[in-house]
Amino acid sequence: MSLPTASHVRQQFLDFFASKGHHIVPSAPLVVKDDPTLLFINSGMAPFKDYFLGNKPAPYNRIADTQKCLRVSGKHNDLEEVGYDTYHHTMFEMLGNWSFGDYFKKDAINWAWELLTDVYKLEKDRLYVTYFEGDAGDGTGPDTETQDLWRQYTTDDRILPGNKKDNFWEMGDTGPCGPCTEIHIDLRSDEERAAKSGRELVNADHPQVVEVWNNVFMEFQRLADKSLIKLPAQSVDTGMGFERLMMAVSGVKSNYDTDVFQPLIQFIAKEVGVEYHGTSPATVNDQPATENERTDIAIRVIADHIRAIAFTIADGQLPSNVKAGYVIRRILRRAVRYAFSSLNQKQPFLYKLVPVLADQMAGIFPELKAQQAFVTRVIEEEEIAFLKTLETGLRRLDALEETARQNGNVIDGKTAFELSDTFGFPFDLTALIAREKGLTVDEEGFKKALEAQKGRSRGDQETEQSDWVTVRDTDAPNVFVGYDQDEATAHLLRYRK
Ligand code: ATP
Ligand code: MG
Ligand code: MG
Ligand code: MG
Repeated sequence: MSLPTASHVRQQFLDFFASKGHHIVPSAPLVVKDDPTLLFINSGMAPFKDYFLGNKPAPYNRIADTQKCLRVSGKHNDLEEVGYDTYHHTMFEMLGNWSFGDYFKKDAINWAWELLTDVYKLEKDRLYVTYFEGDAGDGTGPDTETQDLWRQYTTDDRILPGNKKDNFWEMGDTGPCGPCTEIHIDLRSDEERAAKSGRELVNADHPQVVEVWNNVFMEFQRLADKSLIKLPAQSVDTGMGFERLMMAVSGVKSNYDTDVFQPLIQFIAKEVGVEYHGTSPATVNDQPATENERTDIAIRVIADHIRAIAFTIADGQLPSNVKAGYVIRRILRRAVRYAFSSLNQKQPFLYKLVPVLADQMAGIFPELKAQQAFVTRVIEEEEIAFLKTLETGLRRLDALEETARQNGNVIDGKTAFELSDTFGFPFDLTALIAREKGLTVDEEGFKKALEAQKGRSRGDQETEQSDWVTVRDTDAPNVFVGYDQDEATAHLLRYRK
């Protein structure tokens, strides 16, 4: 059976909302230049913040798009899950439809259901929906309006109440907020579904019972004294994970088994001469139990990270030692490390994936194809530099071996920290190599040394506490200038049909 293509499924979404009066706009760049509170765009809503805050009038009442998002720092950081699980990515596309003071809950819910069940033909009895159970800290009652609307489409056993964390969205300490309704899908086999209801697995980190779509209803304004007032105009902000939607419409069990990732995965597998088996640890906290799991994780990490790295560079952020640039450098090094230690790639390798990705995405995100040679070169140079670091680190480790043996077969924490801090040699790689030499590493000591030093990356960890925070230091240099937000807005009509 051939897989549904990404371009077709994406276009179906855009066409559907165009048919409901939405203007289709291009994705804003991933790199944020005019908002010191955010390093990268991390949701479809982020580029439209000013419209919701009333700082700028929205150019249209109804907009839909696919937005490149990156969740690798601050409030939304999924980095450590990536590769271990099968449905969180660093970079992903968030499909979204917006109402700026136009339609509200009734139409949003109606269209969400119509799209998923009529257009995408997802089975109704696999879908679970949630509504806010009530009390956002001010006595707000449950969102029975949403609950009642859903009753027109599905049965009560598939409608679940949800708490403030999952079902009440706030931009920040103050500002627009409101209840949301999430749509989850149960992709397990019929036998598994008969044995245990999907209802019990919603929001339980099950890899085949996943959240696909969040519909936020901006109804209130949170004031500084924490009270809520009703907004004069009500708005809708939705976000659907495109790669998860692809998994659902393809009838597969992992985002990586879809047309979004398969071209990259096949290329990697061929290039390194290792088959991709599609296995994963039982939970993201488990270490790989088999060699297949170990190489599968590495292949997923690389297929995922190359997207984040390539698009971020194409959107104007070079790897560097500060802020957003450092985040990208760390992602790139994470990918190199997996290629190096799990797939035995001792030579630069990631850069070879850029043309595959650029071709694949040319129809929707042409910015990568347009800068393919530049992006490829930046990545290759980073790889060369880091591989040298890795070699230096390996030699240092060889030299340290004797001392460690005299120290009860333990590499002390301070040394491990120096390796990471001075030589950029990551702790887990030290631990891995130590294990191969029959040594262990003093992790507690390493953590202490790490704590003692003010981390260079601390700035980015502290900046994003919410989707909207007050300004901190803003000295992140943007080395390369890509197109910016105003240009993106000026090109709003580019994808209009
Ligand atoms: P989850 O609970 O699975 O982490 P979320 O509640 O953090 O998702 P939202 O902020 O509601 O996600 O974003 C809207 C949609 O974007 C989600 O319903 C999901 O489909 C998708 N999504 C969120 N994070 C990721 C990610 N790291 N990779 C891929 N898709 C994601
Ligand atoms: Mg999340
Ligand atoms: Mg969630
Ligand atoms: Mg959510």
